[in-house]
Amino acid sequence: MEIRIEKTQTPKEKPQDETKLGFGHIFTDHMFIMDYDTGMGWHDARVVPYGDISLSPAAMVLHYGQEIFEGLKAYRTADGSIQFFRPIENFKRMNISAERLVIPEIPVEDALQALHTVVEVDKDWVPHTDGASLYIRPFIFAADPFLGVRPGDKYYFMIIMSPSGAYYSTGLEPVSIYVETKYVRAVRGGMGFTKTGGNYAASLHSQDDAHKLNYSQVLWLDGIEQKYIEEVGSMNIMFVIDGEVVTPQLQGSVLSGITRKSVLELCKKWGIKATERRISIQEVADAYDAGKLDEVFGTGTAAVVSPVGHLRWGDKVMEIGGNKIGKLTQRLYDTMTGMQYGKIPDDMGWIEKL
Ligand SMILES: *Cc1c(COP(=O)(O)O)cnc(C)c1O
Repeated sequence: MEIRIEKTQTPKEKPQDETKLGFGHIFTDHMFIMDYDTGMGWHDARVVPYGDISLSPAAMVLHYGQEIFEGLKAYRTADGSIQFFRPIENFKRMNISAERLVIPEIPVEDALQALHTVVEVDKDWVPHTDGASLYIRPFIFAADPFLGVRPGDKYYFMIIMSPSGAYYSTGLEPVSIYVETKYVRAVRGGMGFTKTGGNYAASLHSQDDAHKLNYSQVLWLDGIEQKYIEEVGSMNIMFVIDGEVVTPQLQGSVLSGITRKSVLELCKKWGIKATERRISIQEVADAYDAGKLDEVFGTGTAAVVSPVGHLRWGDKVMEIGGNKIGKLTQRLYDTMTGMQYGKIPDDMGWIEKL
């Protein structure tokens, strides 16, 4: 694929204090963009100065939400080089999302080339501080100016990038999670397994309710019986019960997280029993009452692993592991971040150098 590069004449000042980056506020100097038109396919791949785009108010994505996205990071190692964590998996998953939403797929090697090219142009934006990274957001949306309901004929694939601070500034602080029993996020046969804006729109009300009760995230139950555990807002979830790792199986309504997959692979390598199966919130509560709920943690690109300190289900509040990070959670965190920042060797074949 040929990619045209147009560099900015007015580069921005890079953030001086990398401890104050936060998440998702600051954008780099450039972005990737490529057009799709029915009959032409994907064409006109280019890296251009970061900036606003012009869209018709009738653009289909604004009305019917035909949109998908991905999220990954570029990490800087101690020797100054830059690397990614399993980026192939992100672009394979993007095509799985694309298929569900009738969005034209992009060959994985083209998407990877776009990623490498745009990060290379803005490589000085990859933070140097330990724990900080360059958050990368690829996305595709339908842009036809048309109010009828049908798949689009015009799409844009874009990649934008945002230097982001360490997720944990003061060690891995456990999060508190609220089990949602009123609303549901996704049902089997729906779009739960895709990364699409609509799933997040469906989650906002519950997220708001949880915040009002001083819980930081929502745990979703299945959309039919509201008995079985699915996942957290933007993380998959794992329970360590009596020494065994248990996580909900993928069955269409749960996002297939790359961190989830990596944790399962590490457990296997370490000889720790890890099972994907249906698990009810009642089973978790029973394990807690029996003193067998050793650890609970979320998994996702943003936080890698996120220990859960409190889980509230109706009137029942479970405090897990004394509201401190558990041993396996810490080991997973140290191993995965160690590989990502090049501090420990990657013996899994997960790291891809820029
Ligand atoms: C992105 C995402 C995850 C985590 O996936 P990773 O590939 O591990 O980052 C989990 N759940 C939802 C709903 C997500 O959108």
